[in-house]
Amino acid sequence: MNRKPFIAGNWKMHKTIAEAVSLVNAILLNLPDPQEIDVAVAPPFTALAAVAEAIKDTPLKLSAQNLFWEKEGAYTGEISPLMLKDVGCEYVIIGHSERRQYFGETNEMINKKVKAALTFGLKPILCVGERLEEREEGKTFEVVKRQLLGGLAGLAPEEVLKTTIAYEPVWAIGTGKTASPTQAQEVHAFLRNLLTKNWSKEIAQKVRILYGGSIKPENIKVLMQEEDVDGGLVGGASLKAESFVRICNFKGD
Ligand code: PEP
Repeated sequence: MNRKPFIAGNWKMHKTIAEAVSLVNAILLNLPDPQEIDVAVAPPFTALAAVAEAIKDTPLKLSAQNLFWEKEGAYTGEISPLMLKDVGCEYVIIGHSERRQYFGETNEMINKKVKAALTFGLKPILCVGERLEEREEGKTFEVVKRQLLGGLAGLAPEEVLKTTIAYEPVWAIGTGKTASPTQAQEVHAFLRNLLTKNWSKEIAQKVRILYGGSIKPENIKVLMQEEDVDGGLVGGASLKAESFVRICNFKGD
């Protein structure tokens, strides 16, 4: 199965509006062929409108980093899927390990967010990944299984098809420690197999599974050589145009 590679930059809590616009303008100068690869950026909420304007009529895609599951209401400080759609987002990252760790997001909450995103026409990027102690205790597969099936619970086949999975081992995020291609591949294959068992082989073959965790221009190519690695969710290296576009252009680098 020939899945189109997908690279998404998660800017986390970085960039003012002016910095965000200047970063996307620099990225746009060196975007890879949009027929060959999909590229998205996920700025903070405050910069979404300005980035949406800057990337209008370009192949660069817009993602949010989080959402709340209600359409509107008395939820001070939250942002709804309707608002993200309205500002021009196509994707939304859901269940990032930092949301799970610092903001108490559970698989049940993440499932509500995934469903809400899909209801409003957003494509979820569902993050899963084990912590270091879970890996050391041999619980990696058990943990990612719970996260994947919990996050996607109740989804119809066509909804799963609109979803991207990001395998992000927590011990590799922002630490400079990347999972080896073999470590990434074995978890990606496991996740794809879960999609086969719970939905269908056809669906599992179409869903993109990204790797995330200290991706750099130097390691993207070997990771992308693995059968089930379909792209990357990039944190730190997405904050500079130079490193991000090198990652996006991994085929020619
Ligand atoms: C992330 O937080 O999604 C991530 C992968 O971060 P980094 O690339 O900095 O490890």
